[in-house]
Amino acid sequence: MRRDAKPRPGSRTFSGKSPYLVRSVVPGIEWPGLPDQMDASVLAIEYQLRRSLWWPTSRLAEQQRRQRDLLVGHAARTVPFYRERLAVVAGAGAQTISDDQTISDELWRRIPIVTRADLRNAGSTLESRKALPSHGRRFEIRSSGTTGRPVTVQGTALTTIMSRALNLRDHLWHKRDMRATAALIRRLDDKVDEGGDKAARWAFGADSGPLISYDIARPVKNQVAWLRTQEPAYLMTHPSNLRAIIDACREGTKDLPSLREVDTFGEPVDDSLRAETKQVLGVPLVDSYSAEETGPLALQCPDCECYLVQSEAVQVEVVDDAGEPSRYGDTGRVVVTALHNYATPLVRYEIGDCAEPAAPCDCGRGLPRLRAIPGRVRNMMILPSGDKIRPPFAIGSLTRMFALEQAQFVQTAIDRLEALLVAPRAWTAEEEEAFRREICQRLGQDFAIELKFVAEIPFPPSRKFEEFRCEIEA
Ligand SMILES: [Zn+2]
Repeated sequence: MRRDAKPRPGSRTFSGKSPYLVRSVVPGIEWPGLPDQMDASVLAIEYQLRRSLWWPTSRLAEQQRRQRDLLVGHAARTVPFYRERLAVVAGAGAQTISDDQTISDELWRRIPIVTRADLRNAGSTLESRKALPSHGRRFEIRSSGTTGRPVTVQGTALTTIMSRALNLRDHLWHKRDMRATAALIRRLDDKVDEGGDKAARWAFGADSGPLISYDIARPVKNQVAWLRTQEPAYLMTHPSNLRAIIDACREGTKDLPSLREVDTFGEPVDDSLRAETKQVLGVPLVDSYSAEETGPLALQCPDCECYLVQSEAVQVEVVDDAGEPSRYGDTGRVVVTALHNYATPLVRYEIGDCAEPAAPCDCGRGLPRLRAIPGRVRNMMILPSGDKIRPPFAIGSLTRMFALEQAQFVQTAIDRLEALLVAPRAWTAEEEEAFRREICQRLGQDFAIELKFVAEIPFPPSRKFEEFRCEIEA
């Protein structure tokens, strides 16, 4: 009941006395709001999501299959990469999967899985050659993903609408006070000033509370001090960073009484982190599973701590090494089909994560359930001052600056780093020096950096690729 204990500055409590307002675009009309086309579409999708959630699993699967057939027909006709790939599947005589073909589950499983390497190598042959005016503007999404090797896909206004509707569903499922302040701690782009964008909003509609941001590369104790002065209701960050914040709170700094919930993303969450969040911060942890190139994949069930696959937007298969569906309780590879991206169709795309499928939830929701998503693990780095920081080595940004395909950093001493680098060609001495300078600049201090060029960075058996590993004791 702590959430009602005291009113917080900057966050009106959702009392039910005043309506939550949809942003109205008609002059003179405030309520009920008449939204613009984007907001209207988000609301129309959300209206349907409220109902499909309770459909039986079989009906969801059937509806999904129909959408999937349309997507695959489009991919076969207009995307060079799939024209070849799908021809194999279509069977003897057929040129490719045709427009109106119904793809049985048996046929579906013969469609070859698209790997991240395929995605990188295919380049623009994965993009639809067809103009898609009804899907809105196309834009580029670059994702560093699980393996540290970035991939690029195109999104459309339509994929943005789907993602927004799913985010709204998440807020409603977890009964968030959408007028309150949310603090996001993540890696910030150089051009985004910390807390500088006063107009940023995190929820939906005219009443959405502000979204304030802080750079995750800053020392954890500074993050905690910032949270204390900002007094947000919601904290959104990566699990590894949350753990460091909890440790910092334990080490003598005071609790964060303004918080009502912590929302995590991007890394695995274990039971101990949930328990410590409850114990030290006094609030629940709500996790979500998404990928930049596909949008939200699974959201935490409102009634339990498992993940519900967002079947209205994505098909998520979990398969074993033979490509067969994993059984409940077995961990397998995640294979995703994004149902509404017609610009870069992703059909049976292996995203590089592992997950454990589970039997349907007792709560009656028909969405398929995942119990755990091991995914990727991040480690904190320790500076000579003793400050812990999240290492600022975003591989995506480094590959844009240097002739580099993949990188892994290992901290071998309090002032030493080893960089394992996969490069397409040999570097000059100047390039090596520039790379060292860039890393020291990001760290804000001098480090001895040893560069090791390798043909490949071994992928550990756990499939948890680490961009950074700390090999010294805290
Ligand atoms: Zn449930």
